[in-house]
Amino acid sequence: MPSLASVRADGEQHKGNRRPDLSRPGQPYRRTVHHPSPSIDPRAFTLIELLVVIALIAVLLAIFVPAMRLARERAQRIVCLSNLKQLTTAWIAYADQYNGRLVYGSSFAYRRRGHDGWRRGLQGWVGRAFNSRASAFEDPNRGALWPYVRDVDVYRCPRGYKNNLVTYVPVVAANNDTPHMAGTYVPNTADVEVAEVGVRVGRTVLKLTRLTDIVSPGPAARAVFLDIGHYPSSVDYCVHYFSPGWCLSSPPAPMRHGAGTTFSMADGHVEHWKWKGRETSRELQAAKIVITTSPAMQEYIPQTEDGLYDLQRLQKATWGRLGYAAEENPEP
Ligand SMILES: [Zn+2]
Repeated sequence: MPSLASVRADGEQHKGNRRPDLSRPGQPYRRTVHHPSPSIDPRAFTLIELLVVIALIAVLLAIFVPAMRLARERAQRIVCLSNLKQLTTAWIAYADQYNGRLVYGSSFAYRRRGHDGWRRGLQGWVGRAFNSRASAFEDPNRGALWPYVRDVDVYRCPRGYKNNLVTYVPVVAANNDTPHMAGTYVPNTADVEVAEVGVRVGRTVLKLTRLTDIVSPGPAARAVFLDIGHYPSSVDYCVHYFSPGWCLSSPPAPMRHGAGTTFSMADGHVEHWKWKGRETSRELQAAKIVITTSPAMQEYIPQTEDGLYDLQRLQKATWGRLGYAAEENPEP
């Protein structure tokens, strides 16, 4: 039963000891409602709802950002493979025009001393004009393949290092005269020495100078260009012939597209190689690269079958065969 004080004449009831405001007679009494926090809009997000939304956005980003990165990489890979195909088509067209002789494979070279003496007047497949974007348009020395590929962008991978106008190199066996000739040496000798690989073993021509050299294995299995992602150095790209180790004077197993890189073959087709060995994409990449006066002597010996597989795959694509005892069992 409510007390008399809490019952108004109009019958409305209020609670507790709150009393009507009697100081302003004639003003209707308004009940005061006390919310714990009077500013909250019932339509607003609660903290929990906000956190849930943020978490959802984070999850969606985690799903889509890698997918977008992958899509971007795939698109760049397609451009890269197209570049390699155009360069290799030009490489074949050059040979066709010059009685089967392969273009000089040393990058930026014009006249240099090769292992067989001075080669005057020979222009490298890509010329010194590619040293900078400005000179690419001004310097007439754009390389021996320029008449066949007159597009600066074809000479670089879209994933290449910034401001590097050339990211491809011919393999060392593709008529390339690196200073140590082959990036190869005879192991287990008292004085490790850089060695000449010789001309041929059986029907396999080791160092290619003519299209007709590419017989055993055939042109589909001999590499021409690969993507290293940056300007070729003075040693271009080397891989040993005599030794079961990666030559460390150049990026030993380029990692340009996923855990692998792109190649072109002498028949004009292109491939993406994903390195099979975890050590090829991890340990080898971390191997300390020391450039010495004899860079051919720096090497990394694979420790696993998969790692050896990667090395031998590249050695065979480069030289046509292996130059050491493991040739008897080349396939792990
Ligand atoms: Zn590429």
